[in-house]
Amino acid sequence: MVDILLVGGGHAHLGILRRIRMKAVDYRVTLISASTYQYYSGMFSGFTEGLYSEQEIRINVEELCQQSGVTFIKDTIVHVDATNRKLVGTTGIEYGFKLVSFDIGSNIGSLDGSIKQIEIKPNYVFPNEIHTFRETAFPVVVGGGAAGVEMALSVQAWRLNNGYKSNVTVISSSPLLSSVSEKASSKIMKIVKQKGIVVHDQDEIQETSRQQLTTKKGRRIACSQLLPLTGAKASTLFAESSLTLDENGFLLVESTLQVKDYPWVFGAGDCVTIRTNPELPKNGVFAVRQEPVLWENINLYLTGKPLKSFVPQKKFLSILSVGQQQGLITYGRHAFYGRWAWRLKHSIDMKFMNKHK
Ligand SMILES: Cc1cc2nc3c(=O)[nH]c(=O)nc-3n(C[C@H](O)[C@H](O)[C@H](O)COP(=O)(O)OP(=O)(O)OC[C@H]3O[C@@H](n4cnc5c(N)ncnc54)[C@H](O)[C@@H]3O)c2cc1C
Repeated sequence: MVDILLVGGGHAHLGILRRIRMKAVDYRVTLISASTYQYYSGMFSGFTEGLYSEQEIRINVEELCQQSGVTFIKDTIVHVDATNRKLVGTTGIEYGFKLVSFDIGSNIGSLDGSIKQIEIKPNYVFPNEIHTFRETAFPVVVGGGAAGVEMALSVQAWRLNNGYKSNVTVISSSPLLSSVSEKASSKIMKIVKQKGIVVHDQDEIQETSRQQLTTKKGRRIACSQLLPLTGAKASTLFAESSLTLDENGFLLVESTLQVKDYPWVFGAGDCVTIRTNPELPKNGVFAVRQEPVLWENINLYLTGKPLKSFVPQKKFLSILSVGQQQGLITYGRHAFYGRWAWRLKHSIDMKFMNKHK
């Protein structure tokens, strides 16, 4: 049995590994993750466009564990027994713990229909999957949020650079980036049109047949592959456990990032919903921000002291890569567009990667 079992090599756990590397702890710590590498989604767009190599966008979690004195186990957890403090991996191996923390991210929902769909989560499947999507005859992205817009623009940029004639299409049930702000929405509409992307917003897929989609508004769209990016979907891992989940299947934690009925179970990032902040967006920014509180609370719990609350900031800076090394910055209701925005994004992403390499 280990003292601290970290499940998933997500953003918050990477931060914890880095802390332990800088300052050793007396606890026995093990990290179990489905892949040796953690691919950083902030650089998915740059990889798609051909600006970064696969090496540049991934962190070797096993190596980081070795440097931190943490045991790394490559396995996928398939069963959680919170009462008996036991997890089960794919091969049936059981892992006991005093305290467990989950940072296993989320999945992407799939769509009905017969057209090939590309799955880019869990993040280690991303490079291979995006290669096939970039080259397909008629690529269609479904979803007009930040991830959908960014992937559409980076695939389009790569296709323009590589002599592909047909453009990327985006289908979105709402105006693009409408959940960010009106300003961001109107700016991105201009950008995507200028880059040649075909947008069908406030519309949805009704039917798919071979190489063609029909939307609710009756449009017929050529489509050889679909990339659904319609928001985070909960992992099925917790579904059969006794842990409390929100209505969408995400692990419900308190503001201390701790499960109420099982105080030895913690969680952070996309896989959790914080009871006091259910609307918090599921993105890497908040997963990173939760890490200092998660680590402090793990230590406080193990030493029997009162825990602290995670208090999310109301506004956060977001930078979307829009192709050709240009970016769109959004902060609250503000939105700015330009080359400098991409350069800022590039330097933030590089800083994040260098911290963990
Ligand atoms: C195309 C795209 C672009 C995005 N761009 C941005 C961006 O620029 N900025 C931003 O803030 N957010 C972005 N996001 C959102 C971001 O990817 C997620 O919010 C973020 O990765 C969540 O981090 P996490 O730490 O919760 O989990 P993840 O980063 O998803 O990590 C989860 C880890 O757990 C492991 N794992 C999963 N299941 C198991 C299991 N059962 N057992 C063991 N290990 C497991 C995985 O291998 C992985 O290492 C983007 C998303 C997409 C799809």
